[in-house]
Amino acid sequence: MRFADIAGHDHVKEVLRRAVDRDRVPHAYLFHGPDGVGKATMALALLSYLDCPNRRDGDSCGECATCRAIQDRTFVDLHVAAVDRHQIKIDEMRSLMGRLYFEAMVGPWKCLLVDDAHLLNLPAANAALKTLEEPPSRSLFILVTPTPDVLPQTVVSRCFQVPFGPLPADEVVRFLLRRRPDRPEDEARDAAVLSRGSPGRALALLEHPVLRERRAFLDAFLALPDQGAGERLAFSEGIAADRNDVPTYMALLGSLLSDLLLVAADLPPQALANADLAPRMRAFLDRVGPDRLMAVVEAYRRWDEDRVYQPFARAALDRMVLSL
Ligand SMILES: [Zn+2]
Repeated sequence: MRFADIAGHDHVKEVLRRAVDRDRVPHAYLFHGPDGVGKATMALALLSYLDCPNRRDGDSCGECATCRAIQDRTFVDLHVAAVDRHQIKIDEMRSLMGRLYFEAMVGPWKCLLVDDAHLLNLPAANAALKTLEEPPSRSLFILVTPTPDVLPQTVVSRCFQVPFGPLPADEVVRFLLRRRPDRPEDEARDAAVLSRGSPGRALALLEHPVLRERRAFLDAFLALPDQGAGERLAFSEGIAADRNDVPTYMALLGSLLSDLLLVAADLPPQALANADLAPRMRAFLDRVGPDRLMAVVEAYRRWDEDRVYQPFARAALDRMVLSL
């Protein structure tokens, strides 16, 4: 994995590259920012840059055995914390941290990557603290999460924090067309706009039939204020029924709610992700009013937060449709 393979985040690459070039790599990083923008991929690119024997022009080679193994996450000096029933547990952390105290097998650097670090339970996070306080030499601890605020402050304060922002839509379109050159550009653009700056989410959207059903799905949502509780709950059941698709539906609804806030503020339709639905959105706003719109937005935000702990929980989603 090379820095050059990752869309955007030029300033992050520069910070990481400079730390390596000056031999001042912090022992622990906390990469935080929205889902799917490339945080874990950046962690792999950093390890490649540290361990690739053919490093050149500020990047790893991307071709040697080390680079390829890191990309596949099979590199012997890369340890990735496993999630067990939606938690990262203390036994897992202890066992992986123990390995950091041995010499790297290929190295020179070894890395413990904790993707979804918000799933660390408290004993596991406390166990990690010990290593963060006295890190073995040439070991790199990388925590990755969209929600750093749920980690204990004692852990956060020992990490060098690197924020990742959303990417501009044009950048996401270029990324999509590189990955899926067979797909039409207007579909890639739809997916990019709906993804709110996340290439990972955009790629999932592009692969998903719902992108083609976008209008029908959002129309159904906009019709909910005129329907009874039974129909509203049926709508939320429809989303929850296909667990793997929940993030896609969330992205679509998130784009619609952002649009509704823009319409409520009287912004021109060109600014909307779902510009074709502008008249329907206006009718929806006339029906629900600004207070209930804010209640829905708040319920969506809660749903988005709950999802970190209970990805398939329906309660927050039900609250959202019922608050209409
Ligand atoms: Zn290499």
